[in-house]
Amino acid sequence: MADFNTHLVGAAAVSGLAATVLVMTGQFPHQAVIGYFVLGVIGGLLPDLDSPTSIPIRIVLATLAVVAGFLVVFTFGTRYSLVELVILWLVCFLFIRYGLLGLFDRATVHRGLIHSIPAGLGFGLITILIAFHVFTASATHAWLCGTFVALGFIVHLLLDEFYSVDLSGKKLLKKSFGTAFSLGSLGQPVGTAVLYLAVIALFSLCPSPRPFTELMLDRDTYRGVTQRLLPGETWFPGFLRRVAPASLMDR
Ligand SMILES: [Zn+2]
Repeated sequence: MADFNTHLVGAAAVSGLAATVLVMTGQFPHQAVIGYFVLGVIGGLLPDLDSPTSIPIRIVLATLAVVAGFLVVFTFGTRYSLVELVILWLVCFLFIRYGLLGLFDRATVHRGLIHSIPAGLGFGLITILIAFHVFTASATHAWLCGTFVALGFIVHLLLDEFYSVDLSGKKLLKKSFGTAFSLGSLGQPVGTAVLYLAVIALFSLCPSPRPFTELMLDRDTYRGVTQRLLPGETWFPGFLRRVAPASLMDR
């Protein structure tokens, strides 16, 4: 099982690479890409949500509760008075911090259903719904948000799976092999069935993925990227001139 730092670095590396490709296409605003990147990192931490002993995860969740409250407040910032906004923030914070997490603590076993591929899809779809309906994002933008959350989530499951392999050579596989990257839990057939039904229901509530898949599968989107896979005649053209003080360059 990979530790917190490995998950943080792994999710940041993979979603950072994906975000870099999006920047290179030139089709997405920079702020949006930074948002996708952050969502990918958050997605990489979500599978261990149900681990009550992990202090870093507690800290991340407490931070998320604060940030989520502000995101809601920013969305309604122009509509309500300051007092109403403060109340809105408090309700959001208390709901996430004590309501949702308290429910989580009671309802889940670590490495249970939350730590599975369908749960990752579910979190991605919930992200799409929140982005689309609460933050009135476009369908493409919402689907990108959800895709990054699911991507980080899957990276987490894969990391746990890789770390269950014993590299010393004596025993090829540890006992936990196959438990991290799971499609559900045979021990919880009802829970697994409910999880799959929830994923289907969430998908049916989401905006059509067509504009998103068309953009992502269109070869034209990546034309700039494939052309720039390797540098041209010089590496980092003009970079020194940008970072070095002008006086230094004149010498
Ligand atoms: Zn894990």
